[in-house]
Amino acid sequence: VANWQNSWVIANWKMNPSTQLTVTALMTDLQQQIPTDALQRCNVVVAPSFMHLSTTQQAIQHGSCNIGLAAQNLCAQHADKGAFTGEVSGAQLKDAQVNYVLVGHSERRQYFNEDDTCLIQKIRNAFAHDLTVVFCIGETQAQYEQNQTQDVLAAQLMVVKQLAAEFANTQLGNLASRLIIAYEPVWAIGTGKIPTIQEVQNIHAFINTTLTDIDASLATTPILYGGSVKADNAAEIAQCPNVNGVLVGGASLDATSFTQIIQAFA
Ligand code: PGA
Repeated sequence: VANWQNSWVIANWKMNPSTQLTVTALMTDLQQQIPTDALQRCNVVVAPSFMHLSTTQQAIQHGSCNIGLAAQNLCAQHADKGAFTGEVSGAQLKDAQVNYVLVGHSERRQYFNEDDTCLIQKIRNAFAHDLTVVFCIGETQAQYEQNQTQDVLAAQLMVVKQLAAEFANTQLGNLASRLIIAYEPVWAIGTGKIPTIQEVQNIHAFINTTLTDIDASLATTPILYGGSVKADNAAEIAQCPNVNGVLVGGASLDATSFTQIIQAFA
């Protein structure tokens, strides 16, 4: 069970690894290496591919570590089941004991043309099934170079604004307690480049202010940093007062590196 006050370290395995066997080995290594007391202070979540959700869930269930399970995507159509070839619904994720889902990752925006309308539908579907949404936002290299970062993030956060308006009075509490933001500069993903700590700090403060302006209840939304987080830069990132955790791609595929990142946030 997640403790909302704790920090968050979330693994985004993307379209990795290639076999069930490797997933099992990775989960075994992780569960052996993560110190149990670290999980008292840090929420650890892993996001395997759809194909590996059930293997991962079984590993979590049989292991002694309290690790959360996330999906990397869900269907945008408002349906629990039906004629949507190749899609997976929120209802199916919930049934597979998934508790979290990534929405808005830059790779989905870039390669699968997911726009705000699509992302809003996905978030609605996730909330309808009590899934916590890790909503990813971030600027491209060109936008960064042209000092457009804040404008881009503010525009991407309009999705949250629209949902807050939609949920006003009814489900706003739901939004506040089921939303995590991951700030991932596109140019930092998988590149080994990261913004300066001062930049991360400023952007996280900006995101917090933007969310608070949308609704005061969003002031405590966890804001994670993502993009080339490694064992050797995690401690520095963890020291930023307004960084509540990290979303980790490449380094999450190595149990030792991922454990070191968890320890930096625990
Ligand atoms: P990376 O990916 O850690 O490999 O840069 C992060 C992400 O895309 O979530």
